[in-house]
Amino acid sequence: MRLKNIPGAKEAVAVSPYVVHTPFEKRGRWREAFRKDAPLYIEVGMGKGQFLMRMAELHPERLYVGIEMYDSVLLRALQKKKSLEDAGISLPNLLFLRLDARLLPDVFDQNEVDGIYLNFSDPWPKARHDKRRLTSRVFLERYTRILKPEGRVEFKTDNRTLFDFSLEEARQDPSWTIEACTYDLHNDPVLSLNNIMTEYEEKFSAQGIPISKMIIRFGPDS
Ligand code: SAM
Repeated sequence: MRLKNIPGAKEAVAVSPYVVHTPFEKRGRWREAFRKDAPLYIEVGMGKGQFLMRMAELHPERLYVGIEMYDSVLLRALQKKKSLEDAGISLPNLLFLRLDARLLPDVFDQNEVDGIYLNFSDPWPKARHDKRRLTSRVFLERYTRILKPEGRVEFKTDNRTLFDFSLEEARQDPSWTIEACTYDLHNDPVLSLNNIMTEYEEKFSAQGIPISKMIIRFGPDS
């Protein structure tokens, strides 16, 4: 999502109380940052944050960190969180980072993260950009450096080419086990249960485009 650059976005993000401004110092200490010892989940490439705000509201017993690399996009999430707070929904279990996900292992320690969500990640269709895809083998290797054993990566997309690439990347790496896979999430009797829609998911499914989803587990097939 490349929103037009919003004037003042960088400055607004820089002073937001919802954003962690010194993420590298939190490495290994995220639960202290929340002042709560609870399972920690992250969404990488969060966009405007609808999915994670709903998850944080549904699961106050969990901690969530939303990661987005562009100020103008993150600003939309901050505005949404402020509106929720004004309506009496404060979500103290949700924090945001403006960060390029390539730096995840510098921000989260080994075994620190319980689960990772990737929703409608940018497809980067050119072959020479494959390492930028958030489900490429280079990113999967980064996730192994922060996830707990048995932790899951859950990935949803409308893009079948990206989805098939992602399945192959997971299959070739023995660190991962494919636990679930569907090419039509909204009609899948199991995976559709408790599905929380993202902004992109709402847009694509309204156009009749089927949504694919895979869940991979960090650990060998047993
Ligand atoms: N997850 C949201 C949804 O489903 O509605 C947004 C999807 S949007 C297509 C992908 C988002 O990922 C964009 O906002 C983009 O800026 C962000 N993104 C892409 N690469 C990233 C990276 N390396 N680190 C952090 N965010 C990234």
